[in-house]
Amino acid sequence: MKNAVYFAATMAVFASNAAALVPAAREFAAGEGVLSITSKVSFTEIDWYDFDRVGQCLAEVEKTVVRDKSLPPEGYRLHVGADSIAIASADDAGEFYAYQTLRQLATLTSSNSIAIPRCIVRDWPAFRWRGLLIDEARHFLGKETVLKILDEMAMHKLNVLHWHLVDDQGWRVEIKRHPELVEYGSVRPCSVRFGTHASWKPPAHAMEYELNKDRYGPFFHTQDDVREIVAYAKARHITVMPEIELPGHVRALLAAHPEFICEGATHGREPAVAWSVQKEVLCVGNDDAVRFLEDVLDEVCELFPDAPFIHIGGDECPRTNWKKCRKCQARIASEGLVDESGLQAWITARMVRHIEKKGRRAAGWDEILAGDVPKSAVGMVWRSSPEGGAGTEFVSAAEAVGRGHDMVMAPNEYCYLNYMQGIEHDPYPYFSVWPSSSVITLEKAYSFDPCAGIPAERRDRILGGQACVWGESTFNIFDFEWKAWPRGCAIAEALWLGDERPGFADFLERMEKHRIRLLDAHINSAPL
Ligand SMILES: [Zn+2]
Repeated sequence: MKNAVYFAATMAVFASNAAALVPAAREFAAGEGVLSITSKVSFTEIDWYDFDRVGQCLAEVEKTVVRDKSLPPEGYRLHVGADSIAIASADDAGEFYAYQTLRQLATLTSSNSIAIPRCIVRDWPAFRWRGLLIDEARHFLGKETVLKILDEMAMHKLNVLHWHLVDDQGWRVEIKRHPELVEYGSVRPCSVRFGTHASWKPPAHAMEYELNKDRYGPFFHTQDDVREIVAYAKARHITVMPEIELPGHVRALLAAHPEFICEGATHGREPAVAWSVQKEVLCVGNDDAVRFLEDVLDEVCELFPDAPFIHIGGDECPRTNWKKCRKCQARIASEGLVDESGLQAWITARMVRHIEKKGRRAAGWDEILAGDVPKSAVGMVWRSSPEGGAGTEFVSAAEAVGRGHDMVMAPNEYCYLNYMQGIEHDPYPYFSVWPSSSVITLEKAYSFDPCAGIPAERRDRILGGQACVWGESTFNIFDFEWKAWPRGCAIAEALWLGDERPGFADFLERMEKHRIRLLDAHINSAPL
C-alpha cells in the first residue's frame, strides 16, 4: 500500500511544527509542494473559517475515504497528494478529525482558493474523554454562543461538552413537567457587574465584585434549544453531558420548591446571588424531594436521548441542616446509615441506580465516591488534595480506580481556566478562590497529566480529562474565549497525545501560529 511505504521511508514524528497543528498530530510527514483547491464560490476573510464552507471547498477536490479497522478508535490516516486527498479512518469520528486537521492545514490563497501542504498524517487520541465544561448556571451564554463553543471544541478535537446547567445561582434548562423550575430558578434579583470589562480593572478576589442591581434573567434554554445544541454537537462528534447538581448547589431548585428544604430552615423564591458554598441543601429525608429529583432526571434522560452520562454534581454539600432535621435523621435511622455523610452516599447511590435503570451511567464530582456507590458511577476529580477546595470527603483518583471506578480528571490546579492566566495587562475578570492555585499559566496547563499518580496497570480506568471554564466571571463569549484559549489548546493536546506530546517549547512555537488562526476565525484568544 502506497501510504505505508511512504511512511516507512519518511517517518517524521512531530515534524508538524511547520504546519502548526494544535493539537499536534501523532505522526506527520511533510511532502513537497501544495495541493491547490479552487472553489466555485468566493470566500471572504470572515467566512473562511466557517465550519461548512471548508467542507464545501474540500468537497470540490478528488477524495477517497475508506474505513480501516486496524486504526485505534477515532484514529485516521490522511494523505494530501498533488491533486487529491485520501483519508482512512477507524470510524466516523476519525474521518471527522481528518477534516479538522485539513482545516488547520489549509490557508486561504485567494478569494476562491486554498492551499494545503502535501503531507501524510497518522493520528489518534490518547484519551477517549476530552472534555470542556461550560457553566451557564452562573452566567447564561445562550444558544448561539454554545454553538460557537462547539465549533471551537471540534477544531481542537475535544469530544465531551460538560454542560453545567443548574446551580445555586440559576436553573437554565426547561423541564416541561416542572415549569416552575425555570419560572423561579432562572431569574436572580441582581448579579455581579458585567459587560464593562474594557474599562474595568478586575478585583483581586472574586468576593469583591460589585453587584449590578438589575434583575438577571429569566435566562434558560428551551427544550427546542437543547435539541438543536445536542444535534449540532453530534454532527461534530461531541457528546453532551448535562449536569443536574444534587443534593447541594440546589438553591435555584429550592426557589421553585422551598418546601424541599430541611425542617427548621427556610428558603425564598429566588436563587442565590453570592458565589460561596451555600448551606441551603436539599432535604434528603423528604420523600417528595427525592421523587422530584428522580422525575427531573427522567425528563433529562428523555431530553438527552443519546447522552451516555448524566452528571449529578455531588460536590460541596454542607450538612448543617441535615443534622438538625427530623426527616433527615429519620432517614439515617431507617436506612441504618452511620451519619450525615452516609446520607449523602445514600442519595448518591439511589440516583446512580435510577440513572442505571435508564441505561445510562451517572457521573459526579469526586465526593460521590465517598460511600458505597455502584461501580457504574464515573468520578470526576476536581481537587488534587483534600485541601484543594471547600468540598467534603476527598476521594483521590488512585483510590477510586483501585475500587473499580472509571475516572475523569479535572483538577482545579491545571484545568480551571476561570483562574488567572498570568499574562500582563489582562483586562478580564477571573474567579479564583484558593490563592495557592489561582494562576494557571499556559505552561502549567500544558503540563496537565491525567494519569499522574495512577499505577500503570490501572491507567485504562482514567477515561481522560477536561478543561473547566466556570461561569462566576464568565459573562459572555468574549470572556469565555479569552479564558478558554490558548490554555484549552494546551489541555486538548495533553488529552490528544498524553505522554507522547512533544513538549512545551514545540507547542509554543505552533501556538504562535495557531493563535493567528483563532483570531482569524473570530475567536478571542488571549495572548501567549
Ligand atoms: Zn432534611
